[in-house]
Amino acid sequence: MSLYYPYSAYLKNKYGKKTYKLPVNLPVSCPNRDGNLGTGGCAFCGEEGAGFETLPAEFTVREQLEKNRHYIGEKYGTELFIAYFQNFSNTYLPLEKLKDFIRESLEIEGIVEISLSTRPDCVSEEYMGEIKKLISKVKPGVNLSLEMGLQTVNYHTLSTLNRGHTLAEFIDALQVARKYGIEVGTHLILNLPGDDMLDVMENARILSALKVDNVKLHALYIREDTELGRKYLKGLLKMISLDEYIERVITFLEYLDPGIAVQRLLGRAPEEKSLFANWDHSWWKIQDMILKEMERRGSFQGKKFNYLNGKALRKFQKR
Ligand code: SF4
Repeated sequence: MSLYYPYSAYLKNKYGKKTYKLPVNLPVSCPNRDGNLGTGGCAFCGEEGAGFETLPAEFTVREQLEKNRHYIGEKYGTELFIAYFQNFSNTYLPLEKLKDFIRESLEIEGIVEISLSTRPDCVSEEYMGEIKKLISKVKPGVNLSLEMGLQTVNYHTLSTLNRGHTLAEFIDALQVARKYGIEVGTHLILNLPGDDMLDVMENARILSALKVDNVKLHALYIREDTELGRKYLKGLLKMISLDEYIERVITFLEYLDPGIAVQRLLGRAPEEKSLFANWDHSWWKIQDMILKEMERRGSFQGKKFNYLNGKALRKFQKR
């Protein structure tokens, strides 16, 4: 039995074959950086956003997708792909421009899904409705999904980190996505300063209650060009230990609905410009440690998923 429901299995169930993401880097910004909704960005966000693994945005969408398609297709022997608009807030563009980028990606052979990574406050009915319309006109059958950065359900932490939105915008965006049949993945960071184990459990409980489709976990890394980096250098930031991170991931998974796919347990962190990254371990080594510990204790995703659908009423159930 798998200890958790991996995203690779979720994609295989959905498409019948191995399916891989092809990252795309668009020339976009973020409303929390450019002054629209905030300045300076989230306290942990560096100049590159999440794009240290992508090709430069100077390449066209087609060039990026074709290069990655050849590379990933050959490496993993697969023909099905997701165009993954990864960096910054990809729906934060004038609608027609965004549609042009999506149209370009729909022309690439093997694309079965468009996945847009974005912030909850960059999702509207107009945008989602128009993009869905475009896809059904140009390449019907291609799915649309969102990856939304939430990071934590603790709105006090969100405020301290200058995130620029709270849980409310996330719920709103999720409802919009549901209305248009768009799947939603959610990004969380389980070791944010200010969050404790209660927040970790509540992350799992709220995402389970909201029935998101998948979740991607990150371990916070500290870059020198960020607000958290400046605090870290002044000794004002205490990071939790690796053992505590492992404990948090296991607890999170135990409370998470077993039907929610998990994209990863932590990410690769850029070594360059990082003051703190993955406790100086490789991400896969930490992942191994988590899985071994889960095995040792008989832990699995959903082990404590027993709190929804009228928990108190179960005592009246006939045995
Ligand atoms: S929302 Fe994303 S891109 Fe914008 S500042 Fe925060 S982490 Fe960076």
